[in-house]
Formats: sequence, C-alpha cells, structure tokens
Amino acid sequence: MRIETLAIHAGGESDRETGAATPPIHMATTFRHGPGGERIAGYEYQREGNPTNDRLRTAIAAMEGAEAALTFASGMAAVSALMESLPSGARIVMPDDCYAGVRILAAEFLPERGLRVQRLDMANLDAVRAACADGVELLWVETPSNPLMKISDIAALAALAHAQGALLVCDNTFASPVLQQPLALGADVVMHSTTKYFGGHSDVLGGALAFKREDEFFAKVARRLHITGAVLAPFNAWLTLRGCRSLPARMALHCVNARGIATFLEAQPQVERVNYPGLASHPGHALASRQMRDFGGMLSVQLRGGRAAALAVAGRLLLFTNATSLGGCESLVEHRASVEGPHTTTPDNLLRLSVGLEHVDDLIDDLAQALAAV
Ligand SMILES: *Cc1c(COP(=O)(O)O)cnc(C)c1O
Repeated sequence: MRIETLAIHAGGESDRETGAATPPIHMATTFRHGPGGERIAGYEYQREGNPTNDRLRTAIAAMEGAEAALTFASGMAAVSALMESLPSGARIVMPDDCYAGVRILAAEFLPERGLRVQRLDMANLDAVRAACADGVELLWVETPSNPLMKISDIAALAALAHAQGALLVCDNTFASPVLQQPLALGADVVMHSTTKYFGGHSDVLGGALAFKREDEFFAKVARRLHITGAVLAPFNAWLTLRGCRSLPARMALHCVNARGIATFLEAQPQVERVNYPGLASHPGHALASRQMRDFGGMLSVQLRGGRAAALAVAGRLLLFTNATSLGGCESLVEHRASVEGPHTTTPDNLLRLSVGLEHVDDLIDDLAQALAAV
C-alpha cells in the first residue's frame, strides 16, 4: 500500500470493543490479570506498553517500512535511549551540521559514558570513509540537515557503515517518511522528533525510532525504554496518531509553499543565499532529487546585511511567528544563531523558516514587506 493509505489505516482500525470508527485513548496505568496471573491482552503496566502507543508504533513502522517502532516522550529521549544502548567505548561519527540538542548530547553527555564522538561533514564521503577506517559502531546522519539544509547520501553512508559492521541511523525529522524512506535506502534505524511534522500542530511533544529489523538491538533499546521510563503518554500518542492521518496531505502543501518561497527569496536583492534542496542552485539538489520524493517545508535564507538585517526581517514579519521548532500548520521564523547560543556554528545572517500551510501568496507578501525594510 502507498503511504497516503498507510497513514490513515495502519494503527487506525476501528475499536473492536465499541465499533468507534477512530482510535480510542487508553489512559489506564495498570491492566487486570487473568485468573492465572496472565496478561489478558498483552498489557500489564503503562510504562511497559499501552494500546494507544502500540497503534502509533504500528503506524510509524508501516510508514517507514520498518519491522518495529518505539515511541518516546520526546525526540531527544529517543536519541538518548539509542545512544545509551551502544556498548561503552563505541565510536560514533556524526554530522557537523545537525540538530543542536543532538550536538550537545554528543559533546556533554556521551563522552562521560565512554562513547567517542567524531563530527564531520557527512556530505563529504571521503571524510566519512577516512573516519570509519579506524573502526566505528554508529554513523548518524541528518538529511536535510538543520539549519544549512545539507543533503547527505543515505545509500552511500549505509554502505560505508555496513562495511565496518556499524549501524546507520538517520534523523528523518525534516523530510518525514512521506518524502524520504531511509530504511529502503539502506539505513538501519530511523529517528523522528514526532513533535514536528508527525504531530503537525505544534501542540504535542514526542519521539520515535523505527527499526529495519526487530532484532537484539531493537530489544535492547525497547528494554531500556521500559526500565528508564521516557515513555510517550497515551494522550500524546493519540494526538500524534491523529497527526499521522493528515501527514501526507500536509507534506504536499508544505512542499509547494516552501518551493514558492525559496524561488521568491532567491530573486531578492537583499538575499545572499537560499538553502533549499529544491532549488537547482543547491549543491545537494541532484542527490535530493534521487533520494527524496519532494524537498520539504524547511529552508534557510542568508541575508546580505548580516546579523542586523536578519534580526530586522525576523522582527518585521507578521504572519511568520518568531519562534523555534518546526512542522506545524503555522509558519515560523527563527534566528538560529541566537537560539543556539555562543558556541553556534550557524551563520549570523541566517534565518530558518518552517513554511506552514497558509496561502503561499500571503506568506510571500509578508516576506516582501519585511525585506523592504533592510
Ligand atoms: C526537534 C528535533 C529533534 C529533537 O526532538 P524533541 O522532540 O524536541 O526532543 C531532533 N532532531 C531534529 C531534526 C529536530 O528538529
């Protein structure tokens, strides 16, 4: 089945007990045992598993083409559970440009657990190959990357990882499974901040891991989640499951709007550079055209007037809310360097846009009036 159909039907079956046509929420923390102490329907205690979470896991696994999926209280909880399930001393190669939380986790927390992290440009395969030559257990890739929208070759990275017996994990948050299927390209695990496009309405935090194989490593991460407890609450699982249904339709419009805005911005004299893989000028355009179905709703723009111009534009926009995060119905703008703090590597003249579902002409009018001020 195609993803538009899976998004609605996988995990979305009507309720067996009542016939309710859409999924119920099960809030119970504990489940009654049978007469011999056995589990009646496979459940015992909410931290270990609950029916609403299982529906969401089924939906995400189906959309990513995975054998199994796990859901977490946040995207970062998913990343942490995965990293902490690696053997101590494991070597990790990860991108120079990636989600700031993952970067901070790698810098502050992983080394004290005995994990060794090397960061480099994952779009540079020679550099990755050289780094892997000394041995590696996990390759982390985020493509498109935050906030420079770099594109990395998932199939080539999978081949490099597998040649060393390592896993390739792909943060697929920006693309969503609608636009990119990392497991089919060779990745072993897909990570999502479901807070973003899956939830889709900027009102529910969550994370997920989708595993190509329901193997020992899957079991290890699942056990860690059950015991350490960063589980997704049933209500949040239900909201995210609700988001799944419209994900393909929303992504289609995010792509149309972002393409329109990228094309507009690229033609403006105040703009130095637009980072959007859908533009022919983007260095990753050809690769993105091969490995993605479309180019997504995220882009960044670098202004000629430096930091001052970037802040002025962000401050004058009326329809774009100046806020962090992404993937909701409403458009957001953000000066990433300010948000990331003093150690940021993000250019000072860069604004990141999460293009929402408003009419694209209204969004362009808003950008035009804001740019006119600089
Ligand atoms: C938001 C985000 C995360 C972290 O997810 P949370 O749900 O905020 O914990 C990780 N990766 C990317 C690309 C993100 O955008």
